[in-house]
Formats: sequence, structure tokens, C-alpha cells
Amino acid sequence: MEFQLNEEQKMWRDVVHNFCQKEVAPRAAQTDHEAKTPMDIIKKMAPIGLLGLPVPEEDDGPGLDYVSIAIAIEELGRACGSTALSIAAHSGLGLNPIIRWGTAEQKAKYIPQLMSGDYLGSLALTEPSAGSDLVNGVKTKAVLDGDTWVINGSKAWITNPSFSSFITTLCRTDENARTRGFSMIIVEVDREGLIISPPEKKMGLKGSPTNMLSYDNVRVPKENLLGEEGRGLHQALATLDVGRITIGAMAVGLAFGKPIGQHQSIQNKIADMATLVEASRLLVYQSAWLKGNDKPFTTQAAMAKLFASEASEKAAFEAIQIHGGYGYSPEYPVERIYRDQRLLSIGEGTNEILRMVIGRKVLAGE
Ligand SMILES: Cc1cc2nc3c(=O)[nH]c(=O)nc-3n(C[C@H](O)[C@H](O)[C@H](O)COP(=O)(O)OP(=O)(O)OC[C@H]3O[C@@H](n4cnc5c(N)ncnc54)[C@H](O)[C@@H]3O)c2cc1C
Repeated sequence: MEFQLNEEQKMWRDVVHNFCQKEVAPRAAQTDHEAKTPMDIIKKMAPIGLLGLPVPEEDDGPGLDYVSIAIAIEELGRACGSTALSIAAHSGLGLNPIIRWGTAEQKAKYIPQLMSGDYLGSLALTEPSAGSDLVNGVKTKAVLDGDTWVINGSKAWITNPSFSSFITTLCRTDENARTRGFSMIIVEVDREGLIISPPEKKMGLKGSPTNMLSYDNVRVPKENLLGEEGRGLHQALATLDVGRITIGAMAVGLAFGKPIGQHQSIQNKIADMATLVEASRLLVYQSAWLKGNDKPFTTQAAMAKLFASEASEKAAFEAIQIHGGYGYSPEYPVERIYRDQRLLSIGEGTNEILRMVIGRKVLAGE
């Protein structure tokens, strides 16, 4: 077994690390405090390939392997949770479905937009009463009227739409079919009837915009269907499978600390934190490697996200503890990191749902 990064991966880590430490980390506290997405910094990510992480060379992307994608999100997470989440959603939720199911025309139109740094990618699955249970919960409906889809409904907790040119939207397109009754439809943000509400106020990740959306008779051409009609739920679940690798990587990045102190008990905490981080990283890289080598990875990606998100919470908890009273103050980054990491056991499949996914797979002998 090979546990080392190859030379290209090491060079990539250096490039991303240097960029993140120079550009992203110094603005992390301000980004959190002002709850403002650092689009000027994000724009600077375009030339080094950070805005096209999953884009293959044939679509003019950097053609990275999945371990390299995980490395990038880990480094971003280490520098700034908000920026890491925006880029993880941009790549995993925004770009991935277009790369995987887009027609040649859709790819030619949308991939360059997303790689330019002018826009962020966005995927709208969740609704006010549909989160873990999309099958029974999703009410947003799209009906064909001649050559036009007419969309009505609302979405909740969507990352990035205020900086997007289009939002890929999960809609119910057949009331009578159950899991095959959904489709993904590309909705450009300037379509009449689409309203993006002001950003939600959040506990952490404040510089990553999260919005409610409402669709009131929004009309888009029939060609805006992404992939096959009736396959939307399958597409959503497949997209989340991959997204879990990057959310796990973000947890590894956030769990990095700069521990202080020489007390025995503090050394013990540091040992525990370092062990958790190392184990999380191995799970994340393993799932990234499986995905990159076209092997089944659903169970490992779920394990990676489950373990890494809980490890990052423990590490962030102990980091505050080690800092004592100062750890509770916004003057030190550990307070922000504690708030930021809290999302990671909720987004892209709650940890309760992941335990169900893993349990079922294990019992099925997969
Ligand atoms: C900052 C942020 C960004 C987000 N970005 C996006 C985005 O870009 N796109 C998008 O579509 N969504 C996004 N979401 C939504 C996120 O994916 C959902 O919040 C998540 O899927 C959980 O859904 P829910 O909030 O409806 O909770 P629920 O599904 O209602 O769950 C509530 C609780 O019940 C538990 N639970 C639910 N069902 C079961 C069950 N069967 N067995 C055991 N326990 C269960 C859950 O684990 C959880 O603890 C975002 C959320 C946040 C907070």
C-alpha cells in the first residue's frame, strides 16, 4: 500500500497551501465578522485551478485526481471555513452535476462561467420541509408547458445562489412516480419569478452565503433539463456521495490547530487531536482514491465525512479548552473554527443519515 502523496500531489499541496496562507487565511476573521463572501480573493483562485477542481482536461479544467481535490479543500478549510464551504459547494454541488450530466452545449456555456471567478456554483435540493427525506418532502414542481418548464416552489439553506449565474434545481416532474419522479433543471438567476432572499444569519461559516429561494411560475426552456428526465433524485444522491469526500476534507482542514502549552494533560489532548486528524485524513484520502479509481466509494465517503466531522468537533472543542478563557474570545481563531465546523455533521447528509447509510451497506455485506 502506498500512503504517500506523489510528487504532483505534493507540488499541488504547496501551491494551494501558499495561496491559502497568503490570501485566504489573513482575511478569515474579517470574512466571519463582516459575514461577507471574499469574492475578490475567490477571483484570484481562477488562474491556479481552484475554481475548476473537478473539471477534466477535456473540458479545459486542471484535470486533478480526487486526492488532489481533497487536498485543496483541506487547505482551504485550514485557512477559512467560510471560503472552504463556498468552494466545496461550488465544486461539488455546482460543477459536478454539469460535468457529469450536462450536454455539450450546457458544459460549453456553464463550465467557463464557473471557472472564471465571476460566479459560484449552486445546487438547490433542500426545502423548508425537505432535508434528509427528499423523496417524501420535495414539493417544488416543474410542469412542461409546450417547450417550457414552469417551476413553482421554494428551496431553503442553499449555498452560493447570490453569487451564481444559474441554480441547478431539484424538481418533482412526475407526481405519480416515486423515486423516478424528480428531475434536475438549470434555472438562470435572471429568470422572472425567481427570488433569492437575503442571506440567512448563521452560527458560523458566516462568509459563505446561504439563502432561501422561491420560484413563482419561473419559466425556463425545455433544454434546461440536466440529464435524463426522472433521474433527478439519483443525480442528487450521487452528487452528495462525492460531496461527502470534500466535506470530510474540510473537516480535516478545520481540525488543524496550533496547540499551546506544556502541561501533561494538554499534551494528551494534543495527542488525541493529532490522532483524530490523521485518522480522518486517511479516511478522506482513501475515499478520494476509490472515487478517482472508479471503485465503489459510497460507504467510505460516508465514513470519512462522519468520522472527520465528529473528529473536527472534538478537536475544536479541545482547542478552545487549551486556550482557556482566550479560546472563548473572537480574538483567537479557535472560537470561529468551533462555530464553523458545526455545520459539517449536518450538511450533505446528517451524521444520523450517514450512520444509516453505513449500517445498511455493512449489513448487506458491501
Ligand atoms: C450552512 C448550510 C448550507 C447548506 N447548503 C445547502 C445547499 O447548498 N444545497 C442544499 O440543497 N441544501 C443545503 N443545506 C441543507 C442541508 O443539506 C440540510 O440542512 C440537511 O440535509 C438536513 O436537512 P434538514 O435541515 O431538513 O434536517 P432534517 O432532515 O429535518 O433533520 C433534522 C434531524 O432529524 C434527523 N433525522 C432526519 N431523518 C432521520 C431518520 N430517518 N433517522 C434518524 N434521524 C433522522 C437528522 O439527522 C437531524 O438530526 C445547507 C444547510 C446549511 C445549514
